[in-house]
Amino acid sequence: MAVIDVVILGRSGCGKGTQARRLAERFGLAAVSPGDRFRELAATSSWTGQKVRSIIDAGGLPPYWLGAHLWLAELIDKIAPDQGVIFDGTPRRLEEAKLIDEILAWYERTNVHVFLLDISREEARRRLMGRRICEGCATLSGPVADAAAEQQCVVCGGRLVNRPDDTPEAIEKRLDWFDVDIMPLVHYYETQGRLTRVKGERPIEVVAGELAQAVATHLT
Ligand SMILES: [Zn+2]
Repeated sequence: MAVIDVVILGRSGCGKGTQARRLAERFGLAAVSPGDRFRELAATSSWTGQKVRSIIDAGGLPPYWLGAHLWLAELIDKIAPDQGVIFDGTPRRLEEAKLIDEILAWYERTNVHVFLLDISREEARRRLMGRRICEGCATLSGPVADAAAEQQCVVCGGRLVNRPDDTPEAIEKRLDWFDVDIMPLVHYYETQGRLTRVKGERPIEVVAGELAQAVATHLT
């Protein structure tokens, strides 16, 4: 069977983390998720960790080279000839996209596909404002009808709270960041004819089905 490498792009709140996890499970892809690594780093007491934490808490983005450092280590560790890789949360800068191209070319991986989970800025804002995280196991859950309602984690039954980095100011910054930094990436892949747009404002199952079908097509 062919090996496929997948890049998923999209605004914060588009559901790319969830979709990436599903694709990884379904197709046995190794997930490279620098967002998780950043949160781990931010939880350490090292100078770098504290600096990253203050940036994330303010809704900012750590520098691209630090992200590259984190996902490079993960990628080099996980990449194997018979297994595909899925990038979730990177590239976030053009430099990183070009680096990914260069690295995958060096590994002689040519079956690389890029998906954009397309949602509007308004929808992204609505989803991020309603996002909750479990105090116990850190599972994220989507917007709830009544934001003040006490909700339980579906995984462990823990209490759901606002994610500390989901303040209104931080959310607007992240929405701006997509337009400024990610749109050039979208154009980069699109002009090369490598980008597949997937309408993200649909139920998770529908989006998951379309993504799985697209990936399966490229595996045959
Ligand atoms: Zn939980």
